[in-house]
Order: sequence, then C-alpha cells, then structure tokens
Amino acid sequence: MIDLHTPTLLLVILVVSFTLSATLASVARRFKRDGMLYWAWGFVLHTLTYVLFVLRGQVSDLVSVVLANTLLAVSFALISEGVQQFLQVRWSRWLVWAPVPLVAVSFFALLGHAQTRIILSGLIIAWQCALIAWQLGSHRDKVVGRGAYFVIGSFLTISAAFLLRTVGALSGEVSIGSITTSNPLQSATFLFVSVALMMVCQGVVLMTNERADERNRLLAMQDELTGLSNRRFITEALVMQLAQARRNGKPVSVLMIDVDHFKAINDTYGHLSGDRVLRNLATSLRSRLRAQDMAGRWGGEEFLVVLPDTDATGAAILAGNLRAEVEDARWSAQDGRSIPLTLSIGVHTCDSAAEELDTVISAADQALYRAKQAGRNRVEQS
Ligand code: GH3
Ligand code: MG
Ligand code: MG
Repeated sequence: MIDLHTPTLLLVILVVSFTLSATLASVARRFKRDGMLYWAWGFVLHTLTYVLFVLRGQVSDLVSVVLANTLLAVSFALISEGVQQFLQVRWSRWLVWAPVPLVAVSFFALLGHAQTRIILSGLIIAWQCALIAWQLGSHRDKVVGRGAYFVIGSFLTISAAFLLRTVGALSGEVSIGSITTSNPLQSATFLFVSVALMMVCQGVVLMTNERADERNRLLAMQDELTGLSNRRFITEALVMQLAQARRNGKPVSVLMIDVDHFKAINDTYGHLSGDRVLRNLATSLRSRLRAQDMAGRWGGEEFLVVLPDTDATGAAILAGNLRAEVEDARWSAQDGRSIPLTLSIGVHTCDSAAEELDTVISAADQALYRAKQAGRNRVEQS
C-alpha cells in the first residue's frame, strides 16, 4: 500500500490550489459574468484552508480545525454559486450554504473527537462536491465543449476521495488521528484531491474559453441590428440548401425583400426610427417563418429568405401574405408617430434543375427590380 507523507501532500494541494486561484483571478475580469469571480474566491479560501491544515498543531485547534473546515465549506459553497452563475440558474440557497453553519457548530462541539469529525467532514465535503458536479451535469444544454466534463470528473473525484476517507474511518480499519497523520487512506484521499484540482484548473479554463468561442461564433454569424443571420451566413445556408436540393430533387425558393422608400422613412422619422423599423420587421419575419426557413439581412434594408422544400406556388403565397401583413401592421417611430411601411418582394424558385448561387440571387434580384418598376408594394416572380 502506498503510504505517502501527508503534510507534503497537503502542501502540494495548497500550491496547486493557490495556482488555480491565481489563474482564475487573472481571467476573472474577462469572465466576470461566467462565475469566475466566485471560483477565484472559492479557491483562495480553499488554499487558505490547506494553509491552516498544514499548521495543525502549531496554531490553536480552534483555527486549524473549526475555522479551517468552515472555510472549506464556504469555498465549496462559493464554487457552487459560481457554477450557478455560469449556468444562469438559481438553486436553493439552503442546499448550497447549509453546510457552512453545520460545520462551524458541529466541529466546535466535536473538538475532542477527531474520528467523528473525519466522518462528518467526509460526508459534508462529499455532498458539496457531488452537488457541484450534479449542477453542471444536469444542465448540459447550457455548456458547450468538453471542459465541463473535466470539472464534473474532478468534483466527483474529490467527493469519492472524501467518502472513502469516511468509510475507512467508520469501519475502524484506519485510525486517522489527525489531518497530518500519514497512512494509506490519507495518502489516497489527498492524492486524489491534488489530481482533481489540477483537472479542475484545466476544465474551468477550457469550459469558459469554449463558451467564449461559441459566443464569438454566433456573433460572427449574426447581424448586429436585427439578430438575423448576416449576409455571409445566409449565403452559406443557401449554398447548402441548393446542394441538398440537387441531391434530393426538392425545390428551394428564395425571397429577396426590400423596404419601399426607406430613405424617406429615415429622412422623415429619423435614423433611429429607421433602425427600429428594421428590428421590428426582422422580428415579425422570424415569427412568420417555419422552423426550417432561414432569414438573413442581405444589406441595409434588404432581406433574403431561404425556403427549403418550397415550390413556386408556396413561395408566392408566403410572399403575398408577408407583403399584406406588413402593409396592414402598425409600425411606430421613436416618438410614437405611425409609419406607413410596404415591401417589394422578388421570388425565385429553383426546381430540381441545378442552379448556382449567383444565378439564384440574380433571378430574385431581377424579380425584385420588376416589383419596384411596377410601382412597389408588390410581389414579382422570376
Ligand atoms: P426603394 O423603394 O427604391 O427601395 O427606395 P429606398 O429609399 O428604400 O432605397 P435606397 O436604396 O435609395 O435607400 C436605402 C436606405 O436605407 C438608404 C440608407 O441610408 C438606409 N439604410 C441602410 N442601412 C440602414 C440601417 O441600418 N439603418 C437605417 N436606419 N437606415 C439604413
Ligand atoms: Mg435597397
Ligand atoms: Mg428600399
């Protein structure tokens, strides 16, 4: 059986924990809303706990037992708060924070009973770490990538390590005596904890970076003003749909939509009201489309809608309805004045025949041009 020098292991945990808190603190400002500040403080207190553990015997037991274990409970509660902030969920405060007063009071009462304390602290730490792992694991939809698995794995490891310690102490197999006693059970517990901490560090940084990358990816696809796909993304989507249509022989339709006399709207009601109209128009466009349809902002006041598996008749009906609804709806300016709004729409449908992107766009563009020429507020088909 391995029998490592426990004070050295405690020192290793202390150093790893300190490095971890410094790493987290250094990126905390950038990821403030992702729970980083809680995690950084959590690991600062975790480090402090192990400083006090190492000092066992050299400082009062009140400090190295009661205060140290209470700090440990606070540190895991803070990490749990960080996880909640990261996931943007709220858990019962009670579940998260109850261990803190429980540890403080019971450890004070159990100052002369080391073995009972070990059993109790093992159970409480195991509970807190399992809760953190469970929180992350039960909200997989809110995390992207692999980083979260590292974090879940680490906290489950810490939880298992302390459960093992409790079981060992309960069975009476090992008398731990004090936190600094060296025996196989202590070796296993603190070895697992130090490995888990190294894993947490990687996991947390990976997890937050993966989320930032995902945000950037979404931002790169989105039009800032309307939240619709930007031109690059809707173009890629159309290319994909055309390729798919070629394979399965189904039709794809596109609508090129242009707001009529938009320059006059800007001139009359102000640029901010113009922006507002574009935003509201995008919202109503989104709500009118089916799940598989895609809308993007093609340019200033032009939108491109891609309708997979839609023939010329279906596309004409949708375009006609859109046109009519926009004309009938009430659009308001910043100051509450109502703005008359109409659309011109060019429709083009590619049936199974192979068509390239440029051909499709220019056909829809020409139809739109004809709608404008014919007096605006109308739909033309190519
Ligand atoms: P038509 O009926 O022929 O389409 O006339 P129009 O005035 O809509 O067309 P034109 O292309 O002459 O003008 C488009 C205007 O859209 C000009 C530009 O200032 C405005 N515009 C483009 N992007 C934005 C934007 O993001 N916000 C606002 N408020 N206006 C924009
Ligand atoms: Mg235009
Ligand atoms: Mg226009």
